[in-house]
Amino acid sequence: MRGLRALLAVLLCLAAAGCGSDNPFPEGSTMARIRERGVLVVGTKFDQPMFGFKDPTGGRITGFDAEIARLIAKDLTGSERNIRFVETVSRERENFISQGVVDLVIATYSITPARARLVAFTDPYYYAGQDLLVRIADTTINDVSDLNGKTVCTATGSTSVERLRTLVPRATLEIVDAYSICVPALTNGRVDAISTDDTILLGLLDQHPDMFRLVLKPFGREPYGMGVRKEDTVFRDYLNGLIARWLRDGQWDRAYKDTIGVSGVTSDSSRPATP
Ligand code: GLU
Repeated sequence: MRGLRALLAVLLCLAAAGCGSDNPFPEGSTMARIRERGVLVVGTKFDQPMFGFKDPTGGRITGFDAEIARLIAKDLTGSERNIRFVETVSRERENFISQGVVDLVIATYSITPARARLVAFTDPYYYAGQDLLVRIADTTINDVSDLNGKTVCTATGSTSVERLRTLVPRATLEIVDAYSICVPALTNGRVDAISTDDTILLGLLDQHPDMFRLVLKPFGREPYGMGVRKEDTVFRDYLNGLIARWLRDGQWDRAYKDTIGVSGVTSDSSRPATP
């Protein structure tokens, strides 16, 4: 009789949605699904020091984008370790989101109207500007307009390509899959400059301080958003809530200090206002 009662209790429990589970997220939501799966899958860059970078020795992904991805994993699953990073180069971002290869993309991903037709963006969590990285001995390039007649390396599927085409139509563009590919090209003289977001260039400069110079004349403003599936506004709204919380509770500043902040650059122009 006691056994029967116990069985009945289990059956009643299973019939009641969520009984016995510790899933605090709305049923059927992406958040609930990730919580159940126990791991967050994030598309990020692997070759951009300070933003998304795969440590060649330990394999850990470091950088600001990686740090905020870990904060999301912690909120969703209880531990920042429950995360899997998938390398996502610029031109793959929309595909990886819409095909469900990743739960979200956090990859120096600028919010633009054209992309917002394909994916849903969160509010900006970071602001960058486009700039130039040149060889240290080259004194001829001091502004974007100096690129006319020069060869410039940048990445496929980036806003950097579009802005260069508009601003310096007489520059020759060397368009590659990832910014790290531009580094040897600049070193060996095949290109005269690398142009993309200042944050990315800062990371490349940090790796080669004796060889390169950052021009420090930013042009254009790049608001970074996290990208999720176009129809998943519930997940997007949840992420917006997290961004607002981090800006208020000091987590944003901590992530900055531990990553980009080590370069000595302050967050004044890149930090969104506290909501
Ligand atoms: N933030 C720009 C973009 O989303 C350039 C950097 C990148 O390619 O990730 O296109």
